[in-house]
Amino acid sequence: MEVPKTIPVYPASPRKQHGLSQPLQNVWDEFYMNLALDQARQAALSGEVPVGAVIVRWGPGPGAKSVIIAEAHNQREALKDPTAHAEILCLRAAGRQLGNWQLIDCTMYVTLEPCTMCAGALTNARIRRIVFGCLDPKAGATGSLYNIAGDIRLNHRPEVTSGLLSDEASRLLKEFFAVRRKSSNRGAAEPSK
Ligand SMILES: [Zn+2]
Repeated sequence: MEVPKTIPVYPASPRKQHGLSQPLQNVWDEFYMNLALDQARQAALSGEVPVGAVIVRWGPGPGAKSVIIAEAHNQREALKDPTAHAEILCLRAAGRQLGNWQLIDCTMYVTLEPCTMCAGALTNARIRRIVFGCLDPKAGATGSLYNIAGDIRLNHRPEVTSGLLSDEASRLLKEFFAVRRKSSNRGAAEPSK
């Protein structure tokens, strides 16, 4: 079966799309979210806010196989780039890998709810599905502050699954900011040289 050339306005459910049972889909979702969490840990190790993302492509039809297309983590500090969120870097790498800006039949696994920029980019990329970890009440755009992925005025709406392995995703973020606060407080207490 060929990869469909047109994007349905109403995304099919993952069950229909991949021919997987829901319990099996859940196992795969957890597997790939763990890879996204590994990316988030790599971000923390290099002093970046720990957010990680993975893009997976599912082949069409029953019994379809999934393939990792791209993995990335937040690199705003390293690249001095305000757009270098994990999702954007992952989308760019996936486009290069597939030789196509339309990421048909692809799912993004990301540890934190996408912001307005990333939710917009994911919609523009025609991504089939977004699976994210913890909510971002201050900047989330797939349900928290905005719901870009679910806006019926847009001609493509990715399916969204939220809250997968959210405890670990938010623990990484809390730990990162706690360490950063501690070191900046310590810096303030010491006299400058
Ligand atoms: Zn973002």
